[in-house]
Amino acid sequence: MLGLMQNQPLLISSLIDFADRFHSDTEIVSRRVEGDIHRYTFKECVPRARQVANALDKANLGVGSRVGTLAWNGYRHLELYFGVSGSGRVLHTINPRLIPEQVAWIINHAGDEVLCFDMTFLPIIKAIASHCPGVKLWVAMCDADALPNDTGINQLVSYEAWIGSERSEYPWPMLDEQAAACLCYTSGTTGNPKGVLYSHRSTLLHAYGACLPDSLNMSARDTVLPVVPMFHVNAWGIPYISALTGCKLVFPGAALDGKSVYDLIEAEKVTLAAGVPTVWQMLLGHMEQNNLRFSELKRTVIGGSACPPAMIRAFKETYGVTVLHAWGMTEMSPLGTVCTLKKRHESLSADEQLAINCKQGRPVFGVDMKIVDEEGNTLPHDGKAQGELLVKGPWIVQTYFRGEGGDPLVDGWFPTGDVATIDPEGYLQITDRSKDVIKSGGEWISSIEVENIAMAHAAVAMAACIAMPHPKWDERPLLVVVKKPGAEVTRDALLAFFEGKISKWQVPDDVVFVDAIPLGATGKMQKMKLREELSDYKLPTA
Ligand code: AMP
Repeated sequence: MLGLMQNQPLLISSLIDFADRFHSDTEIVSRRVEGDIHRYTFKECVPRARQVANALDKANLGVGSRVGTLAWNGYRHLELYFGVSGSGRVLHTINPRLIPEQVAWIINHAGDEVLCFDMTFLPIIKAIASHCPGVKLWVAMCDADALPNDTGINQLVSYEAWIGSERSEYPWPMLDEQAAACLCYTSGTTGNPKGVLYSHRSTLLHAYGACLPDSLNMSARDTVLPVVPMFHVNAWGIPYISALTGCKLVFPGAALDGKSVYDLIEAEKVTLAAGVPTVWQMLLGHMEQNNLRFSELKRTVIGGSACPPAMIRAFKETYGVTVLHAWGMTEMSPLGTVCTLKKRHESLSADEQLAINCKQGRPVFGVDMKIVDEEGNTLPHDGKAQGELLVKGPWIVQTYFRGEGGDPLVDGWFPTGDVATIDPEGYLQITDRSKDVIKSGGEWISSIEVENIAMAHAAVAMAACIAMPHPKWDERPLLVVVKKPGAEVTRDALLAFFEGKISKWQVPDDVVFVDAIPLGATGKMQKMKLREELSDYKLPTA
């Protein structure tokens, strides 16, 4: 017997309509690439999203056609989020930190027909336009008079001229909720990037799950600053969450340095910010140097890489801000787990609470997870056994765009490539990427644990722990460190710092000081590249 309830597809257009009707006064504030602050509400945003939809009709883009964006977090990008997907086209966000050849490869692989870009990225567009024959319209996200006429790019129009003459009414089509809504390519450390094609249904379910109290906990009482880019996994779904909940949005544009982010947080009274650890490191550095405090910020979501405990402690003890440590990936829309405490943890000491907060947290309902050993046997959730993490759920990838890489699933589960423990209360702790694991004498050493300890040293700005070949133990850990400007520390002092914090055999064999650790397009340390850079290095005992 079927239930007798209305069957309404879960569509991004229903989010837009909802925002329009029930929180049209929600503010959206953007620091523009032009340098000034732009301010409006959903009342002005939604009609402009409809103008985008009309402009796409005029460009003869069919349902399912891809529209690429190469843009910072800002109001025009938000209008594209809604206008493109709402009208049945697919929004393809592209990471501008990739090299131009990769950007062109992704545009061609995705089959983008329209490409919208911030003026910052005009040099990239100039370099690739002739290599992207499928793009029939290039849209510069600026005013008509800001568009130079000597770009050499055919079919180029300014965003404001493009949508300006369009009608602000649009009948959103009634789509299948399984229809594609957005496309995002993985950072792809090996091989070509792979496209993850989110559906309307997966995007809406993810938005519902992500705003729950034990997830990102966003509501109409919040002012949210997504520093996490809209070109990387849809800024963790925050644009959709704003339409769903009515939380105010503050977009930082291109200015991600500590001072700009701090000034914006204070000026707009941000209550919740979200980003990767490297961004927060710049913010904390700026605040420390200038002895600053937050007036309204209460919570910050940190994910994308492991958040060092020293950062969680600094936010809590010095600035009164609770870190929500979160884990996820492009293939998961991205949210998998978020770390919040349970009622019974409230009576624990600050140190005991910190130990929990350093984990990546419990799964959001909708995400199922398990850990397995090398033979695929399920391991216990005892907080000790570590194995490869597998996930499944309605906002997790089934297969990649154009079938790239074959069937990624193992018995219906998606292998994340992360190695983790899960404790009896369901808290996940990531210990490594499987390709970065250090195996010493048959035992695993968690590179993240070693890095977290190093990062707590006052002289350390960034630390990477990598495996080095060893004749007796197969592999031994090497610590690679970038010192804070003006700070001094010796190899021996740093190694002594590990005493009593981990077992002796887990302490790195040596320390190498470098000027910089290579970072990928999404701000993650590129350990493979680091290992290549240090290929001539020999451990002292090896
Ligand atoms: P991406 O698809 O580029 O977002 O990368 C996803 C990967 O980032 C995950 O598979 C993890 O390896 C890593 N990651 C994300 N969040 C965390 C976290 N909180 N702690 C440790 N690693 C993380």
